[in-house]
Amino acid sequence: MRRFFLRKEQIKDLAKKVGETYRLIYPTLKDGVITYVEWKGEELAFPEKVKEYQSPGFYRIYSGEEGILNGWTHGMNSPKEFLHPKNLTFLRISKDLEQELPELKGGFAFFGIRNCDLTAVKVLDRVFKDDVFYNKLREGNLFIVANCVKPSDTCFCTSVGGSPFSAEGFDLAITELKDGFLISVGSPKGQEILDGLSLLEATREQLEEEKALKQRAVESMKKAFSFENLPERLLKRVDDTCWEAMEKRCLACGSCTMVCPTCFCYEVKDEFLSGGEFERIREWDSCFRLGFSETHHIPIRKSIASRYRHWLLHKFSYWFYQFSTLGCVGCGRCITWCPVGIDVREEVRRVLNA
Ligand code: SF4
Ligand code: SF4
Repeated sequence: MRRFFLRKEQIKDLAKKVGETYRLIYPTLKDGVITYVEWKGEELAFPEKVKEYQSPGFYRIYSGEEGILNGWTHGMNSPKEFLHPKNLTFLRISKDLEQELPELKGGFAFFGIRNCDLTAVKVLDRVFKDDVFYNKLREGNLFIVANCVKPSDTCFCTSVGGSPFSAEGFDLAITELKDGFLISVGSPKGQEILDGLSLLEATREQLEEEKALKQRAVESMKKAFSFENLPERLLKRVDDTCWEAMEKRCLACGSCTMVCPTCFCYEVKDEFLSGGEFERIREWDSCFRLGFSETHHIPIRKSIASRYRHWLLHKFSYWFYQFSTLGCVGCGRCITWCPVGIDVREEVRRVLNA
């Protein structure tokens, strides 16, 4: 794998070069939260010199001296928002009954996403394998991962088989060093982006610096639970009374499913517009909604506890039997954005030990 050194001031040149060919999605600070947005030619504003703090039910950004990529891990949104949009109009019918299929365009470059989010895209690829809309938006994408030098307290990727540093599946991976960035090339498409930037090969010292940062990042992450046979061990608890505790604790607000980079459920709605036009839209849904499991007007999962059980077991157990992978990548967003601070790591431990 080829490794190059990029000077601090060149990071925007790199992003702009990407934006010449791709629909650049980049991280910025919006309404006090790190957010991935599409670049429309404005001055690129990376979340520079900020320090993000995440804990159960808590998210804050403070000012800091952490460079450009190292003071934060990720905010609320993820590539899911672009590949499986919240609201997707996929059919329009005029008042003369002419059908129009809106054009869906991929070609995104996800700049500065974290390894958990790259893994989440690979999970979505399995879920949406035969989905025509997802596959259109997934076409021609580029992944530029920012390795996590300082994982958040809510991160637990190493407990579900992941890592804060990306080893494969990216086009470019960036590690922010003291004086610049170390760029690893993962594909010919990634190399093409670097061509013309006149970068020097990384030195032995720079490679050593990255190695030490990686080791420190991995060691800083506590094991949330044992990964061994997790789907089977959890499945054994399906009829346990331990789930009842969630009836009073969980609000069934669905926030966890909205921010999760792999939760994919949606419903299809028809909307009649003024002038006799009509649209068919697919919109994110949540398994925490009472009506979600409605069959013949009767919800199958009436209690909140049964909905929490379904969500957790789907992520950490059933998903494995459906898609040969877990549905959780350990990003910790559901922990941060749960309004009552329910920590899924604690719940998995509690259920396993019940
Ligand atoms: S279940 Fe929670 S930690 Fe796992 S991928 Fe979804 S949001 Fe991230
Ligand atoms: S676990 Fe938290 S975020 Fe998820 S539905 Fe329950 S209260 Fe809402």
